Amino acid sequence: MAHGVPRGQGVPGGAWGLDGVETAFRATLDRGAGPTLAILCEYDALPGIVHACGHNVIAAAGAGAGAALAGVRDRLPPGRIEVIGTPAEEGGGGKVKLIRGGVFERVDCAMMIHGFDRTLLHQDLLGIVPTTFEWRGKAAHASADPWEGVNALDACVQTFNAISMLRQQMRPDCRVHGIIVDGGAAANIIPGRASATFYARAPRIDTMWELQRRVVACAEGAARATGATLTVVQGDTVYEPLKRNQTLLDLFAANMATVGLAEGAPIPDRLGSSDVGNVSQVIPTIQPMIGIAPTGMAIHTREFAAAAVEPLARTGMLAAAKTMALTVVDLLADPGWLRAAQAEFGRR
Ligand SMILES: [Zn+2]
Ligand SMILES: [Zn+2]
Repeated sequence: MAHGVPRGQGVPGGAWGLDGVETAFRATLDRGAGPTLAILCEYDALPGIVHACGHNVIAAAGAGAGAALAGVRDRLPPGRIEVIGTPAEEGGGGKVKLIRGGVFERVDCAMMIHGFDRTLLHQDLLGIVPTTFEWRGKAAHASADPWEGVNALDACVQTFNAISMLRQQMRPDCRVHGIIVDGGAAANIIPGRASATFYARAPRIDTMWELQRRVVACAEGAARATGATLTVVQGDTVYEPLKRNQTLLDLFAANMATVGLAEGAPIPDRLGSSDVGNVSQVIPTIQPMIGIAPTGMAIHTREFAAAAVEPLARTGMLAAAKTMALTVVDLLADPGWLRAAQAEFGRR
């Protein structure tokens, strides 16, 4: 839809193609001087399993909240509402680019919802630092002259072993996982080059960088042990943890009750990541989880993609849209809520 649409056209009162992201959009409802509140829409999908993360529901709920507010625009208190389309969450870091482009500089707080197998007011999101290691050794014939070689794959395997030991010393809400990207060309050649990519995840920015430091140390130790040289390339797109804002969550919870949305059983160890975390580190932000699939169904599965277009998903989507619209009205009507949210943001 976005391709070929010139900047500044295609959305009434808004624009396609925000700074840094061609397929982002912003639709603005301007009621004059007052706070600027953002509702975020995700609308990307997963390769092969499409809307297995329910982003179709996220986008429609955000657009629905915006449409509901537009329907009563003449009766809204002063302020500005921006529905911001933020694509490329599944790995592309769309919101990271939008933050760098300055899209959130004029926004006071943001909210979005995410589809899940149950409704939860808040679910932690882990930050992610992606890191790629490349070890360089010396290729040699694996049978005729193995002693002439420096085995870069050994350094890679040693790194996996060291990280496996590190895992015992990690906090239970941290994660490290990786893959071998290059493990050599043939079994009869001592690999002169090997490469692996790891993600270090943690629920706080400081613990995330500390974990990353320890993962790099594992690769450095393995390089030293094997005689390989190591190059460390940190991924460009770091997803930051979700910074909780209880003030906005309390307001959202009151409106959930109004529309009849009840919370499910907490599931605190089921932890993912999202670039909405980066937004939450810049301005007060919430991302409640909304039940759009049967309880117990995992996201990123074909079953979840099928559920995301069923009546249950539609019910969740409509309830989420109403709750976000009501929360925006409350924030506009009583500026004390936003001041409290911003004060809390500064304290955490
Ligand atoms: Zn996802
Ligand atoms: Zn998602």
